[in-house]
Order: sequence, then structure tokens, then C-alpha cells
Amino acid sequence: MNQQIFLKELSDKKIKMFVKREDQIHPFVSGNKFRKLKYNLTHAKLQGKKTLLTFGGAFSNHILATAVAGKKEGFKTIGIIRGDELGKNLEKTLEQNSTLRQASENGMHFEFVSREQYRQKEDQDLIKRLKKYYGDFYLVPEGGTNELAIKGCEEILTDEDEQFDYICSCVGTGGTISGLIKSAKEHQTVLGFPALKGDFLQGEIEGFVTERDNWKLITKYHFGGYGKFSEELIHFINQFKEQTQIPLDPIYTGKMLFGIIDMIKQDKFPQGSNILVIHTGGLQGIEGFNERLRKKGSDLKIHI
Ligand SMILES: *Cc1c(COP(=O)(O)O)cnc(C)c1O
Repeated sequence: MNQQIFLKELSDKKIKMFVKREDQIHPFVSGNKFRKLKYNLTHAKLQGKKTLLTFGGAFSNHILATAVAGKKEGFKTIGIIRGDELGKNLEKTLEQNSTLRQASENGMHFEFVSREQYRQKEDQDLIKRLKKYYGDFYLVPEGGTNELAIKGCEEILTDEDEQFDYICSCVGTGGTISGLIKSAKEHQTVLGFPALKGDFLQGEIEGFVTERDNWKLITKYHFGGYGKFSEELIHFINQFKEQTQIPLDPIYTGKMLFGIIDMIKQDKFPQGSNILVIHTGGLQGIEGFNERLRKKGSDLKIHI
């Protein structure tokens, strides 16, 4: 569903903005993660696989999505989680971490590995060892991005979205935006807002979307890197929620909307532009984020 939002910053510049509520596909799983898993799960079934195995951090939207979608489709799921300290007292970890708790409640089995081991996630030796231990599985890469994931994300845009001049999306691994780029029309420009630092994304996306040049990455709104934030960002997220009733997460969608509004103020979009913003979800992460703020003794809090 596309929801129009009304803000003074927009009417001042005669700009129309709609938010595609992919966050509402599921009550707590990121919409884009379901899109990315859809054809992977079909493929896994065709191959006769009974188990899905994937990788992620302790607050990963992708881990939770794999647990929930896997359960729904009748797969066993295994999550290889970064941080071996989390495995020392699983009960306590699950008590304190709502992402892992919900994944566990959906039947996911965890293996906690050190950061060093985690870095070998694409190493064939590691995959072999895991297969020896767990038996055969369908491997979903970290973040869920592969060709089948991109195919799923090509279904985000529909015919009624042809009216828009700009399509804006958050970028993590680049899978979601690659699907958008491939399905966008000739007259549309896709703008990606990376949630992390690093120049590798440009090349990564180019590799997925060969031949299309209707897109651009806006790289100055990562707030210091993945999971990093500022007080200004938290205030922005709370204010945006108050003004539009739309909740944003601090890792992805909050940074993107902050960037878009900032660019509008700076006249980076022509007057009269019609902008579609993809809300990819990520709202399940807010609870864990607030918990971390509380532990640090901060007064900041994202209002859910
Ligand atoms: C994973 C995620 C993204 C990033 O998607 P990629 O396909 O990895 O670029 C964006 N927003 C949310 C809420 C996510 O969970």
C-alpha cells in the first residue's frame, strides 16, 4: 500500500511523497526479507531440501525473517550467529535479545561463532564442516542477497507506481535496490541510501543490474556506519512518527528518510517531483536498539 505523507518541507517545494508500506507485510518481519526469501524457498523445495542455514548478527532482520518464513514453509532453520559470547548462556541471551528470542520461538537452532570464524562465512571448508555436522541444507547467504532474492524484489514495484519520478530505497547488501532498479521504468530514477560506510556497494550493485544506469547511491547519510547513530537521528525518527504515524527503524529506514528530507530542504529534488519511498521494515529491531541505549545509560529512546 502506498501512503501519502504530508509535511511542511514537502508542500514548501511542491513535492509529493508516498511511502510504500512494505513494513506492513508482516507484523515483525522486514518486508524486503520476505521478498528476498520467496524464490529461494521455492528453489530449496524443488531441490528437496528440508533445512535452511544462514548467517547473521544478533539483531539481524534477516535471521528472524528466515526463522519465520522457514517455519511457515515447513523447513528446519539454522542460524549461524556472530558472537560466541552469546552462546555461553543461551537462556540469558534469549531473555535479553528479542530478535533471537523470536527466531528461537519460531524453531531456529543457533550456532554462535567468534567474529573470526564468522568472517569465513563464504569459505567452502566451513560450509563442508557445517554440512557434515547438520546434514544437507539450503544455504541462504548473509543478508539473503542472491539472484533469486533480486527476482523477489522486482515484485515490489507495481503498475500503479509508474507515476513516480523517484524511487528511494535503503541499501544494506544491495539486493533490494537491485530488484527495484531492474523493474523501474525508463523515466524513473532509483536512489539508494546505504546504511553503512564503504565503496564496495557501487560495484556490487553494478554486478547485479548490468545495463541499467537509472540509479545512484547517496552515500552521506550512514551516520558513521552500520548500526551507528546520532541524537539528531533519534529525534528525527520520533518526530517523523509523530507527524506521519509512520514508524522508522534506526538502522535503515530512519537514515534514508532523514537523508531524503535533508535533500529536499537543499533543493536536490526538482520542484513538483513525485517521490516513492520504500519502507523496507526493520521495526522488530527497535526494541533491541532501545535496550542497548538503556544499558548505556542514555535518555534517548525510539517511541514505538
Ligand atoms: C535488510 C534490510 C535492508 C537492506 O536490504 P538489502 O537488500 O540488503 O540492501 C533495508 N531495510 C531493512 C529494514 C532491512 O531489514
